[in-house]
Amino acid sequence: MGLKDNIRRVVPYTPGEQPKQKVIKLNTNECPYPPSEKVIQALKEADYSRLRLYPDPVCDCLLTALSEYYGVAKEKIFVGVGSDDVLSMCFLTFFNGDKPVLFPDITYSFYDVWAQVYRIPFKQLPLREDFSIGAEDYMAENGGIVLANPNAPTGVAEGLECLERIIAGNPESVVIVDEAYIDFGGETCLPLIDKYSNLIVVRTMSKSRAMAGMRVGYAFGCAELIKYLNDVKFSVNSYTMNLPSLIAGEAAIRDGEYFDKITGKVKATREWCKEELKKRGFLFADSMANFIFAKNPEYHAARIFEELKGRGIYVRYFNKPRIDEYLRISIGTDEEMREFIKALDEILILPEIERRG
Ligand code: PMP
Repeated sequence: MGLKDNIRRVVPYTPGEQPKQKVIKLNTNECPYPPSEKVIQALKEADYSRLRLYPDPVCDCLLTALSEYYGVAKEKIFVGVGSDDVLSMCFLTFFNGDKPVLFPDITYSFYDVWAQVYRIPFKQLPLREDFSIGAEDYMAENGGIVLANPNAPTGVAEGLECLERIIAGNPESVVIVDEAYIDFGGETCLPLIDKYSNLIVVRTMSKSRAMAGMRVGYAFGCAELIKYLNDVKFSVNSYTMNLPSLIAGEAAIRDGEYFDKITGKVKATREWCKEELKKRGFLFADSMANFIFAKNPEYHAARIFEELKGRGIYVRYFNKPRIDEYLRISIGTDEEMREFIKALDEILILPEIERRG
């Protein structure tokens, strides 16, 4: 026995780069717009002498705002430090059996990391060629299911029919639907929480509310599942949400008008960008998220990625099976996307970018 035998060793999740210098940053699906003015105002007006106190462990002000906005009772809502924290708590709470947890082979690359760190057996089921989910694949024996909808990094949104089939077909397992990108398109499973007691719907303020830096995530489910989540949370750390996050989260959810404005802008820019990419021979599934996952059969994705980076434009490239010819391009402002397209036009005429054979 050596020291290392007693240490939990894992291969960690690799987040996208956060460069120090000013670049056009289209690599981590952040919102290109600032958070609501009301968030900034609420943070300015906060009584920071309260920082000497522990924050409210039940996060009541944030739960109240979420409850009013979504029309869901507070006991059906859980909040955490970004949806990564919420998802991690869900894995710890709901995936506690011997059977494998199921998720697609191409999806958010944190799922297998949590499964490994918590020693949860898991099985990755291949998406179909067009990156859609085969609902029938999920009728196999399992200890839980996790699906991102719209999926990342593909941007593909499944219809409710497919998701409901999976939820209804697995009454003995908790099905987590990660809706990090649902505010940019696709149909939410949220109304199904009243119909199915095995469903958890996870959301975040990182993308559509421009608050990745604040770390606010939340989940909806039946009161019983939310209670189990809270029991685990209070057994790990009672004070997950700090005071500024509670204040900013509440203000962000209460400014629905600004939310509609920025999500509308991102969606319009995305549709423009799809057309421009198409004109240049790129192929992609019809993304419903705030990014486009595209490949061009004529050119090497890894080389385009490097050339863009050299020009100060960061997109995401995954050197992984089935997706190593794709680039994931987050949607920026109109101006940033025009710069991106202009850079592509310079790059695509370089001889070494072309694929030969
Ligand atoms: N789920 C998916 C599918 C994501 O892409 C991300 C962003 N990396 C997250 C969850 C986590 O986001 P956050 O922790 O910022 O809420």
